[in-house]
Amino acid sequence: MTITIEDISTFCKKKGFVFQSAEIYGGSSGFFDYGPLGVELKNNIKNHWWKRFVQSRPDVVGIDGSLISNEKIWEASGHLTGFSDLLVECVKCGKNHRADHLVEDAIKKPMDGIEAEEINNLIKKHQIKCPNCKGDFKESKSFNLMFPVQVGADKTKDSTYYLRGETAQMIFSIYKNIIDTARVKLPFGIAQIGKAFRNEISPRDFIFRVREFEQMEIEFFIKPEETKCQFLESKHKNFKFNFLSESNQNQNVEEKEVKMSDLISDKLLGEWHAYWLTESFQWFLDIGIKKENLRIRQHMADELSHYSSVTFDIEYHYPFGWKEIHGNANRGQFDLKQHMEHSKKSMEIHDQETNTKMIPRVIEPSWGVERTFLTAIIDSYVDDEKRGNIVLKLNPKIAPIKLAVFPLVNKLNDNAKEVYDLLKEDFVSTFDKGGSVGRRYARADEQGIPYCITFDFDSLEDKSVTIRDRDTTEQIRVKIEDLTIKISNLLKGTEKFE
Ligand code: ATP
Repeated sequence: MTITIEDISTFCKKKGFVFQSAEIYGGSSGFFDYGPLGVELKNNIKNHWWKRFVQSRPDVVGIDGSLISNEKIWEASGHLTGFSDLLVECVKCGKNHRADHLVEDAIKKPMDGIEAEEINNLIKKHQIKCPNCKGDFKESKSFNLMFPVQVGADKTKDSTYYLRGETAQMIFSIYKNIIDTARVKLPFGIAQIGKAFRNEISPRDFIFRVREFEQMEIEFFIKPEETKCQFLESKHKNFKFNFLSESNQNQNVEEKEVKMSDLISDKLLGEWHAYWLTESFQWFLDIGIKKENLRIRQHMADELSHYSSVTFDIEYHYPFGWKEIHGNANRGQFDLKQHMEHSKKSMEIHDQETNTKMIPRVIEPSWGVERTFLTAIIDSYVDDEKRGNIVLKLNPKIAPIKLAVFPLVNKLNDNAKEVYDLLKEDFVSTFDKGGSVGRRYARADEQGIPYCITFDFDSLEDKSVTIRDRDTTEQIRVKIEDLTIKISNLLKGTEKFE
């Protein structure tokens, strides 16, 4: 049975992962609240990423920039003029629609990077009408996605600030402080996890396209002339993946499997870009996303953001098609040069080796937290007809709750509670005594809990409990005194379930 995005949003609401924000007042389009399971899953995704890309790397430092930011930052970055989508307004009901998505839905062809004139022609040619009322459209116009904020009591020429449209600009605008204080040496990265806000014309597909979301981003600074990447190993060069090149898209040819070294030798990207693209893809695999559901797509020349010379997206095969989950852009020197010009502050770094000053170039890998969250749920969602319930086969590393502890019967509540108390210090655990054990297993499956532990009458004698594996339903018996180490190894994947 194929799942739909509606199945996923209903499931996420029913289980307490995600709710529409302000639902009691009719809901706010493009805004979501995360419930008890959702916040755990989100935190696990972010923590796993932070550990991998910041805490485990001596060459990357982390920051946490402000959400509301000075207009001058966004003037310099080009967002106030260049960060926009085309919208079309219905003549009859007045509803606005994102023009490229409207045409894409109607004629089932990707419309990335399309210009206003072409959109207008396609709408006329295919007689595309308003999905809301079947009315006609006015000519398309550009709509800026930045959210302005009025700061302070007085409305002056300097009192308009902006909710940040991407986390990247906080990194570029703090870059000078980091160089002056953090003893970083090229090549190095500055990373950040945090909210970004975009006034999307038509939020849609549940949490895929929203107006408030989180990004996990690294701006990696490299000497401008340095083409060799010292981190590029054979595991990167030999990394195989499905790839959709610009020329394949032009010729309407499907993606095909390639090696990263093929892209380098075809000069589609440089070594540094290849390194970061591979590391980024690998991270999705490490949190359990299936490789066959991922591909890399090269941006078409007319689709590139105003700051990028080359961009590759990592896309996931969602129920509503292949869509971007991660963007990997070569931002070059664009942002630092812009901020240098606008702020009149030097963004140059003194290179001790050559005793010269330089403005580094930048590779930017950027992940969306919500899209990773959605992907993790869709990729692990199994409607198990035999069991009669959904099994959320989330990778144990990111599963919101790691363990459920049950007493077989109420009489054993206190004994099972002791086991729960022992485990809850080390693992996010739940104690469940409600209903039959079968019902409790089903509940745990739907919450994505990898292991259920049952205390039964034999446990009183042999001081052991039963562990049940979510994915296989296999069971093993383990001594209570060995439980902590056993569970820890199982969760890390360093021990087999036997
Ligand atoms: P799209 O083309 O889908 O609008 P984008 O190319 O503008 O995305 P980037 O600016 O590259 O996105 O942002 C990096 C990441 O941030 C994306 O890969 C995505 O995961 C996430 N992201 C961007 N816009 C949104 C949004 N409106 N809702 C949820 N996540 C988003």
